Amino acid sequence: MDDKNFIKINNLSKNFDDVVAVDNVNINIGKGEFFSLLGPSGCGKTTLLRILAGFEYPSEGSVSIDGSDVTDIPANLRPTNMVFQNYAIFPHINVKRNIEFGLRKEKISAEEVNQRVSEALKMVKLEGYENRFSNQLSGGQRQRVALARALVKRPKVLLLDEPLGALDKKLREEMQIELRNLQRSVGITFVFVTHDQEEAMTMSDRVAVMNQGKILQVSPPRELYDFPVNLFVGDFIGDINLLNSEISNIDGKNVKVLINGIGEYTIQAHTIINQNDTIVTGIRPKSINISSNDNKKSDIQVKGKITNTSFYGNLTYVYVSIEGVDKALMLSTAESLQGLSINSDCYLNINLKDIRVIKKNDP
Ligand code: ATP
Repeated sequence: MDDKNFIKINNLSKNFDDVVAVDNVNINIGKGEFFSLLGPSGCGKTTLLRILAGFEYPSEGSVSIDGSDVTDIPANLRPTNMVFQNYAIFPHINVKRNIEFGLRKEKISAEEVNQRVSEALKMVKLEGYENRFSNQLSGGQRQRVALARALVKRPKVLLLDEPLGALDKKLREEMQIELRNLQRSVGITFVFVTHDQEEAMTMSDRVAVMNQGKILQVSPPRELYDFPVNLFVGDFIGDINLLNSEISNIDGKNVKVLINGIGEYTIQAHTIINQNDTIVTGIRPKSINISSNDNKKSDIQVKGKITNTSFYGNLTYVYVSIEGVDKALMLSTAESLQGLSINSDCYLNINLKDIRVIKKNDP
């Protein structure tokens, strides 16, 4: 076993009667990695996590952790621990007892219990809160108690099922940073389930995008954003303009495409495209430059009219309609619009390297 294959998920499937919740999943997760399973509600992420935890038995396939096959090992004997969305901390016992609860079945001295509880409280920055009860804690603090209770067992793998889902936006963002820092400092492998793409993108070393039980792409966040393998991933991760397009010709990785309303261009594809694939072209809002004059600054320049603008602090989103393109293009700019406003004519500049050829026909 090398560190890159700390968790090995092999040909894993899970059916519930006629529902295929997990469909032939193969993933390797590295030791100390912060790995997220991301996808829409019902795509199978929780089921996959529960199989890793041993709460669910797979219909097919196997799981190994740290070199040992754990497929037939019961949950309580696995080197894993799970943190749930609804914290599940007990209201009738204090923070210290809640954390100790995780150790109740381990034959260790009272002294070691105290030492491990202190260590766990320190990890989650709750020293001094030992005697508080659940109703004397904020939502974020309760979630940290739940984390401490899982960490006190020193699992090799921590499984987290939407653990920040119940927190309000601001606290959630703070906890994302805390959780990421905590994971780095303890070095435990985290498998984190979320349906929130921003959350997955900001926290993870790698993200697996799931849909309908299948893993569509496993990549570091940046790569997922820049090089989505198909339409589902491109559309699910961040904002993107999707333009109706057709393949004219393929020469290896160079795909000549007719982009409706924009023109015919040769674009380098990052996935294998076949002549009979149906495609769209994708352009991220940050890759489109807007100008009031027609000095061509990039490979493509098109004329359009501003239909809307919206201001978000340091970025302005601008919507531009172009003749022959059925949906206004969205672009983002950190610069001032210099006299451009709604109904102004404008010029959009786009480089070919920023256009993605994206397959529609994948799952
Ligand atoms: P969410 O984000 O809403 O929790 P999810 O991606 O975690 O969704 P799962 O909970 O894994 O999705 O569910 C995947 C599919 O399996 C769904 O269609 C769900 O209805 C079904 N499913 C999950 N658990 C069971 C079960 N115990 N019995 C029958 N069907 C189930």
